[in-house]
Amino acid sequence: MKFTVLSIFPDFFEPFKQTGMIRRAVKGGLIDISTIDIRAYAEGRHRVTDDRPFGGGSGMVMKPGPISAAIREAKKIAPESRVLLLSPRGHRFSQETAAQLAALPGLVLVCGRYEGVDERICDGYIDGEISIGDYVLTGGELGAMVIMDAVSRLIPGVLGGEDAAEKDSFATGLLEHGHYTRPRCFEGKEVPEVLLSGNHAAIDRWRHEMSLGQTLLKRRDLLMNRDLSAMEVDLLKRWYLEIGDILEAHGVRGAD
Ligand code: SAM
Repeated sequence: MKFTVLSIFPDFFEPFKQTGMIRRAVKGGLIDISTIDIRAYAEGRHRVTDDRPFGGGSGMVMKPGPISAAIREAKKIAPESRVLLLSPRGHRFSQETAAQLAALPGLVLVCGRYEGVDERICDGYIDGEISIGDYVLTGGELGAMVIMDAVSRLIPGVLGGEDAAEKDSFATGLLEHGHYTRPRCFEGKEVPEVLLSGNHAAIDRWRHEMSLGQTLLKRRDLLMNRDLSAMEVDLLKRWYLEIGDILEAHGVRGAD
């Protein structure tokens, strides 16, 4: 996967490239991250990349000239890449989107600043707009890093264990179960007995139950759209009955 990031702050990406798993993936040739400084394509002594908005209003707008030239350069280097503009109004990035993007040969990520980029860039130069969530950042750089990080870990070989990403939260449609490591007892809290049993079928069952429980407690919306397995239906029914018993014990009549 070849990532090309267009930004007026390319230095932002140096520590990202040189840290942890991303660094290893770059060194191993599994991903490539290059940056293009949009300012290098701006004209004049001061290489200005922004200007006042037509029609008035506050803030500045990124000029189309430098960005379009930078995108042309990126496409010259990586012609197969999909060009995405980071934008709060874009398609909301998710684990599913990360998996789709991981299958592409390359991504060009265009980072806006100020009030955003001149609209004519959206019409002619990009394949799509992508948002990392319903909030507004000062620039697209952090979003580009979020996307590169989530996409990279789905590329075969980037994570140590081949199946680690497949069991992550969202990949299965459920949140992930909790993890435990040594010591066996921490501040009086023991590791669940089943994890020490060596019984892999029982461990898998327990983890699946915990995933379902976490999802029920924290993200019920994921269960609403899920094709529940027979085992999950049985578990939910069991919990439903148990909750009914608890309510009854407290003199509250549960739903029949
Ligand atoms: N005026 C814009 C608006 O209201 O939609 C916000 C511009 S924001 C201050 C500057 C840049 O940050 C954007 O052009 C975009 O590249 C980036 N950005 C801000 N929030 C983002 C988000 N949630 N997802 C992706 N990029 C974002």
